[in-house]
Amino acid sequence: MYLTTAWALAWVRLSAQVIAEHRSDLNTLDREIGDGDHGENMDRGFGAVMGRLSDVSDDAVPSEVLKLVASTLISTVGGAAGPLYGTAYLKAAIAVTGVAELDAAATVSLLTAARDGIVLRGKAVTGDKTMIDAWNPAVDAAVARQAAGGTPLDILSAAADAADQGAIATEPLVARKGRASYLGERARGHRDPGAESTRLLLRAAVDVVAV
Ligand code: ADP
Ligand code: MG
Ligand code: MG
Repeated sequence: MYLTTAWALAWVRLSAQVIAEHRSDLNTLDREIGDGDHGENMDRGFGAVMGRLSDVSDDAVPSEVLKLVASTLISTVGGAAGPLYGTAYLKAAIAVTGVAELDAAATVSLLTAARDGIVLRGKAVTGDKTMIDAWNPAVDAAVARQAAGGTPLDILSAAADAADQGAIATEPLVARKGRASYLGERARGHRDPGAESTRLLLRAAVDVVAV
């Protein structure tokens, strides 16, 4: 099986829905260790993406959908998450430019490029208590699943499972990047909001294949 434009569009739609449903949870997480706006930021961004989705032409390829998400998030989401996620979708789009049907290798390229884009912008490493704590294990799991002969669905599924664990693993950490880093020891015991939104977005990517 391959990931198509229909998949990319469904992923974006479910992402917008899931982010809207979790808007208040994400705000709550960000209230504990940040400024309480992560859900609001993400919901504003994906709401704007939904408004522009009809601009995607009927013969579009997945990279065009990803580019639309990138430019919309960059222009509508303030704060740290807008440029970080915007760069992720932009680099993901570039990695699969023009490809109509994404095979296992392209699926891994998409995820790897997204993660690399976030690192390029934010310079976070595993353990800094950021969204990268979800992305790094997700990409590692995706690479491993591809090497084991996995399909794009297997790869997305492995990535989402690893992101779930990565998001949970941020809870005991002290933050070394972003607003939460000002809190020192007080950040312990709270899940990073960006790692949580990453987990939700990667789970949505699987769920639209499975249904
Ligand atoms: P802001 O902190 O500007 O209010 P958001 O609340 O929307 O922005 O996003 C906060 C999230 O951004 C954090 O939970 C963290 O996951 C992520 N983040 C912050 N700085 C970095 C960074 N340098 N690298 C990766 N992710 C980061
Ligand atoms: Mg915030
Ligand atoms: Mg803010």
